[in-house]
Amino acid sequence: MKLLIRNVRAVDPQCGLDKVTSILSEDGVITVLGCADAKADRIIDGEGRLVAFPGLFDMHVHFRDPGLTYKEDIYTGAAAALAGGFTGVACMPNTKPVIDNAETINYIKYKSANSGINVYPYGCITKGMQGAELADYEEYKRLGLVAISDDGKPVPNAEIMRQALEKSVENGMLVASHCEDLAIINGGIINKGEVSKKLGVKGMDRASEDYITAREIALAASCDARIHICHVSTYGSVNIIRAAKRDGVKVTCETAPHYFTYTDEKLLSRDADYRMSPPLRTEKDRQAVEDAVADGTIDCIITDHAPHSAEEKADFEKAPNGVVGLETSLAATLTKLYHTGRMTLSQIAQIMSVNPRKILGLPKISIEVGSPCELCIFDPDLEWTVVPEELHSRSKNTVFKGETFKGKNLYTVCRDKVAYEPVRVRTSTDEVNGHKATDVRHYADNSEKVYLEFKPARMPENGDMQWEDWNCFDSVFVYKADYEKLLVPILNKFFPAEDPDPNGWGTQEYFDVCSENWLGADKWKEFIAQLEALKNDLGKEDRMFIDILLPLFRGFLDKSDIICIEGNQ
Ligand SMILES: [Zn+2]
Repeated sequence: MKLLIRNVRAVDPQCGLDKVTSILSEDGVITVLGCADAKADRIIDGEGRLVAFPGLFDMHVHFRDPGLTYKEDIYTGAAAALAGGFTGVACMPNTKPVIDNAETINYIKYKSANSGINVYPYGCITKGMQGAELADYEEYKRLGLVAISDDGKPVPNAEIMRQALEKSVENGMLVASHCEDLAIINGGIINKGEVSKKLGVKGMDRASEDYITAREIALAASCDARIHICHVSTYGSVNIIRAAKRDGVKVTCETAPHYFTYTDEKLLSRDADYRMSPPLRTEKDRQAVEDAVADGTIDCIITDHAPHSAEEKADFEKAPNGVVGLETSLAATLTKLYHTGRMTLSQIAQIMSVNPRKILGLPKISIEVGSPCELCIFDPDLEWTVVPEELHSRSKNTVFKGETFKGKNLYTVCRDKVAYEPVRVRTSTDEVNGHKATDVRHYADNSEKVYLEFKPARMPENGDMQWEDWNCFDSVFVYKADYEKLLVPILNKFFPAEDPDPNGWGTQEYFDVCSENWLGADKWKEFIAQLEALKNDLGKEDRMFIDILLPLFRGFLDKSDIICIEGNQ
């Protein structure tokens, strides 16, 4: 495809670029700069006002896939990333199972191949993320991993961490550390201070973060390894890192927009959507983090995108920690750091696009002839308000709900296509084929894809199903072409049009797009067997498609006796 982005302010610190120009991409590679009149299949006009950065990169996200896909999966996570201007992410390994083995790594690689963005999984530092025994880094290297982390918690034993750092040097891997000492945290749920006192809840002492940050730096210095400090939130941590950098320790670090935007005052609302780990802290911390981003002590902005369901977030004290962030990161950073005059656009491109790739040792993405064309094209002045229901992420636990920002991503270019662009915004009463607008938005801009939703359930004793009987959801985007070619013929066999009710449950029209079908466990087994049999007759790509789906399908058998499949365009 020939794609022309005309009249756009292209900003790329890697080549000293900051001027209004035109970018021509052919088959996913930039071929000409400054070519406003070129012929193209698709033209985006920046009107001299829109800004283009090399595609953003978030080196710290949780996509919850495999195993926790009711919160997020690789496809919904990728949709959120693309909406936020990201063309690449590195995802943390605290999935279910955790990412410490070839099978899980391959699952993520295959599923990511169709996601539209570049996904780099972290491997666990320790086996099973249990903190006791080092994982197999040679195996990681063979599978193409570039970084390791036990994010979600620290490696408790300092000697094990030291060994991990030593081994990471041998295998050329980055070690990223979640710096919180769990003994010091001791069950605390928000920052320890005035606010925790006022609320009468247990606080997390800031020393928990400062202590492990200092430990990791000392350990990295002792074996001349690289250490990356995750989500810096305290002034203490900032000072320790600044001093270590001055001393020549190979330390890099990151923070998330909520740490330089808000303080723990937000928690006075007793709303668990403001709870994350490490927690929002005091104004002194917020200011220190903002200063450290502006002066370059903090190398990059991440989101720590951590989706949780509304049910999980309902109870202020019992809710899990974490917030989503991919769709608000650029807007929050522009609002807080660019529009206030603290940073230039070029500096923001450096910390949101260039530095994370550099730290991970990934191929450079730039706005130069010959580079893969990955772009985030945004309106720096567009004002908008964050409405959680409009987010692409499956979970809506954003710390920025109701916030008004200045600056918004409009187009994301990745892998030879405009992978994200504004879609018509539907009102919440809008229904499409019986689906609420919030469901439809997930795939409104993916017309060539079909969204399959699986609802495993248990049939209650009296046969009268209620909402609570659905025990989990899972879903997957598949290409419409694959779906029609591979799945529909088999599904039609199971749901012949003349037999509308093969199991006595639910009803069935026809298995085209936008239909709903229910299968009992025996039928489901038969269906899986047919898919397995089909695999042998397929080409490599088609086989891969079936390979991605099979583990998902088999998993349902363990937890359900009915499966409902819905396919939607
Ligand atoms: Zn973490």
